[in-house]
Amino acid sequence: IFGDERKNSAGVNIEIASQWQPFNESVQAFAQHQWLAGPIINGVAVTDSENTFAVTAPYDRRESVGTVAFANQEQVKQAIAIAAGTFPQWSACPASERAECLQRLADLLEAHTGELVALCHREAGKTIQDGIDEIREAVDFCRFYANQASEEFAQPKSVMGFDGTTRQLSYQGRGVFACISPWNFPLAIFLGQVSAALAAGNTVVAKPAEQTSLIAFRAIELMLEAGVPAGAIQLLPGTGAEVGAPLTADTRIAGVAFTGSTETAQRINRSLAARDCEPVPFIAETGGQNAMIVDSTALPEQVVRDVVRSAFASAGQRCSALRVLFIQQDIADRVIGLIKGAMAELSVGRPELHSTDVGPVVDATARDKLLTHIQSLKNQATLVAQATIPATCQYGDFVAPSAFEIPSIDVLENENFGPILHIVRFKANELDQVIDQINHTGFGLTMGVHSRNERTYSHIERRARVGNCYINRDQVGAVVGVQPFGGQGLSGTGPKAGGPHYLYRFTQDCVEAQ
Ligand code: GLU
Repeated sequence: IFGDERKNSAGVNIEIASQWQPFNESVQAFAQHQWLAGPIINGVAVTDSENTFAVTAPYDRRESVGTVAFANQEQVKQAIAIAAGTFPQWSACPASERAECLQRLADLLEAHTGELVALCHREAGKTIQDGIDEIREAVDFCRFYANQASEEFAQPKSVMGFDGTTRQLSYQGRGVFACISPWNFPLAIFLGQVSAALAAGNTVVAKPAEQTSLIAFRAIELMLEAGVPAGAIQLLPGTGAEVGAPLTADTRIAGVAFTGSTETAQRINRSLAARDCEPVPFIAETGGQNAMIVDSTALPEQVVRDVVRSAFASAGQRCSALRVLFIQQDIADRVIGLIKGAMAELSVGRPELHSTDVGPVVDATARDKLLTHIQSLKNQATLVAQATIPATCQYGDFVAPSAFEIPSIDVLENENFGPILHIVRFKANELDQVIDQINHTGFGLTMGVHSRNERTYSHIERRARVGNCYINRDQVGAVVGVQPFGGQGLSGTGPKAGGPHYLYRFTQDCVEAQ
């Protein structure tokens, strides 16, 4: 929507030695660094408290990464009061000035890529490539919402009525937004929510996932350096029970942006509904039971490349990731054979290595849940392939990328947030049944389709109820401003992040009628 001037962040191409070398040095400079984090209230960081949490690396729990002080309920109240007190001033600030702060933040993020990538792998276990993509996406979100706010909110819009008269429609912030973000995109989604809320003229109280508080803390330090006023952004690291619950129960919260599990979204929704005050916007992006449908006209080699990336990149810890692959019986043996071969080549290991394809999962709780699922599948599924975890990973939270054939999608009760692929065969005349079964899960986030028959893929696209349908490609890695991202049904409320309508949900529109 911004014409030719808009470009996504360039990132670093790690396949080019002249880029990889200096970049890797800048990451390695933080290989031993210990970060400190805690609540940031009115620009003051509180890193010493009784309630601290020692952060260790997901790939080796013996490695210390830093310490986080979690917020208490008193600090939740304080943070909301300060954000509420700053709202009149921030919302009155011209949209172009708010946008300039976010543009400066984007530049600072790019300038600190080495440190932020180091944090992404040491705190969140992200591979180098995922770390780079994470910073790029965070930068893209800041610039995208900044551009949109300065282009669309700086002046009121003229709306021509059918009676020939004209009205002025202006967009303003709503108040204090609570931004509650996940650990799987600790910078991109965290800053995506916060920058949208700020660009639209709201002040923010942000609660990042407790697993990735260090990254969030660094991001807010950079945001303050970029010129966002201290009162406009408050950071509250902590758990859902200690921070999230009192935050969403507070009647001063004028809207919530949330990304995480469907269950937590439902809890927040109930908490907002139970408040004795005006109803407020709730933007939720949640889980999925994402499928890919492959028919007999598909190109097997391309299917395998896209399946492996969609299911196992980021250790399957994307809400967009492929969980259930439906392959038409006629080509199933061939495709499954190729998947086995590709999985044998997957390199599982320490995320900072250039050669690693799949790093650890985020923590021991996530690992144990996934291992329990793998165990439960053994009675009703056939193991197709499992990658090997090298002995050097013994102190980390690793789950071997695994593929199982299952009789039906109905075997799966929940989303399994990790590197586990389920495969179901179907016959040519069962296509509609397959789409209906996928719809029946109630989720509707991403879907992949591999077919060279235009009638087939157009039919699937029309019948499937999903937010993002990807045809003849992988189904992860939506690009800001290029593939607006978000789901339907149990997968979220919309509007799509990185799309033209997201920012509007954070605003109040006012008509000036004469
Ligand atoms: N936007 C990401 C993608 O397209 C997924 C976001 C998420 O996992 O929450 O892969």
